[in-house]
Amino acid sequence: MKLHEYQSKSLFARYNIPIPRGEVATTPEDVRRIAHDFGRRVVVKAQVLVGGRGKAGGIKLARDPDEAERVAGEVLSMEIKGLPVRTVLVDEAADIRAEIYLGVVIDRAQRRVVMMASSAGGIEIEEVARETPEKIVRVAIDPFIGLRDYQARQVAFGIGLERDLARDFTLIARGLYECFMEFDASLAEINPLVVTGDRKLLALDGKIVLDDNALYRHSELASMRDSAEEAPAEVEARQRGLTYIKLDGDIGCMVNGAGLAMATLDLIKLFGGSPANFLDIGGGAQADKVAAALRIILADPNVKAVLFNIFGGIARCDEVARGIVAALREVNSRAPMVARLIGTNEAEGRRILSEAKMETATTLVEAIKKVVALARGEDAVIELPPVDVQQLRAERHRSADGHRPAAKKPAKKVAAKQKPARKLAKDSKGLSRNNSAVLSC
Ligand code: GDP
Ligand code: MN
Repeated sequence: MKLHEYQSKSLFARYNIPIPRGEVATTPEDVRRIAHDFGRRVVVKAQVLVGGRGKAGGIKLARDPDEAERVAGEVLSMEIKGLPVRTVLVDEAADIRAEIYLGVVIDRAQRRVVMMASSAGGIEIEEVARETPEKIVRVAIDPFIGLRDYQARQVAFGIGLERDLARDFTLIARGLYECFMEFDASLAEINPLVVTGDRKLLALDGKIVLDDNALYRHSELASMRDSAEEAPAEVEARQRGLTYIKLDGDIGCMVNGAGLAMATLDLIKLFGGSPANFLDIGGGAQADKVAAALRIILADPNVKAVLFNIFGGIARCDEVARGIVAALREVNSRAPMVARLIGTNEAEGRRILSEAKMETATTLVEAIKKVVALARGEDAVIELPPVDVQQLRAERHRSADGHRPAAKKPAKKVAAKQKPARKLAKDSKGLSRNNSAVLSC
């Protein structure tokens, strides 16, 4: 969950990070009143949960209340990267001499929280990392010891900060790290942290991303969520207890279990397809939950075909199948769909689906080949050679014992008898011809 700039800054202030005086407003008249109260130059800042607002024209300076009202009218009627601006933050304008980047993030490779800083503040850190990576200074923080003052000083000098500011910088760095840890954040960032004309440090912009899985420990923060700023599909998924992450591909996936979902995405890639999402419907998925999941998948205009990969453990396949059929009635989609249901009540589940004229598959590989073909606009006519599970088990057993598997020849023979089926998944010939891959799924 992302926090707005004004929310992030209010949390920073609790950790003694200096922020400008500011107030939020939703109308130009309120902005005028605030500017009047402040009695000096203000900056009107769009509160939307995307970066680069400055470049998009969502940050405007105003000399007096008249101008503040006028620019607020402009900003409040803007859309930034597709998000309408509903709220602005009115801050006292700062006299900026230098802009610094300061952030705390999790570095997975190092398995540490890392503090990053750069003298190239104000612009997005991704850009700095791309263009001038040598300008970024990093220190890894020991979770048991926390950020030490010498580390903060190391960062300060690393970015060329003058000595007289090092003490204030250390306090800010410490505050930012504490704030990050206390609220279970995955990112806490000040960009820019500015040096003012009277040689003070001031956090002009703030960004905090919280770990959703830790939100239950911070009820106060959970109420800061701005659902209006989130993708409707993600809001619905959260309300239904579904784990949904949108990806860039065109194959919608509904899977129960995070591990199975990951494996499914990997296999789609392996067979030349591209998943449109990660979606874990969880255990014991009831029909209405399945219907919601399908609505969410189909709300993505990129989705060309849908794959259901359900392991009926706690969830019963027939229940899931009913959910799919119910959802199909409701959403009225033309996207082709393939279902692979296995486990509790699978026969009943498959019967329900084939009555609904849906493609079914008995193995995961078969299902994936079908859905990849369908997403490409090909027919899903695939005739896999029949799999003799007993024989393959025996072969696997033999090869595990160190004997050469006798697998290849009989498998080829079976394949040769088969009518030549449409060739699919060209880049995965190895797997498609290898029966043991089918068995292992
Ligand atoms: P972002 O573009 O979404 O990251 O928004 P920021 O809050 O970081 O603002 C972008 C830029 O606007 C900053 O880097 C500053 O250069 C400028 N800016 C923001 N607030 C002030 C201010 O109070 N005074 C002045 N002069 N410039 C400001
Ligand atoms: Mn910024």
